[in-house]
Amino acid sequence: MSCPICKKESARAYRPFCSKRCADVDLGRWLSESYSIPAAAEDEPETASDEENEPGRNLH
Ligand SMILES: [Zn+2]
Repeated sequence: MSCPICKKESARAYRPFCSKRCADVDLGRWLSESYSIPAAAEDEPETASDEENEPGRNLH
């Protein structure tokens, strides 16, 4: 088995990588890929719910 980052022989402690550095490189790639996913579930400003809490509605 060889390190997927630098193709050196992998170390047992860092399998499948050869060192912590290569493991960090792979983790960094994985994180940058996940960050590139657009956040579609962001909070949208709700304007309709404001009408129910209108201050002047309880005045007679
Ligand atoms: Zn490596």
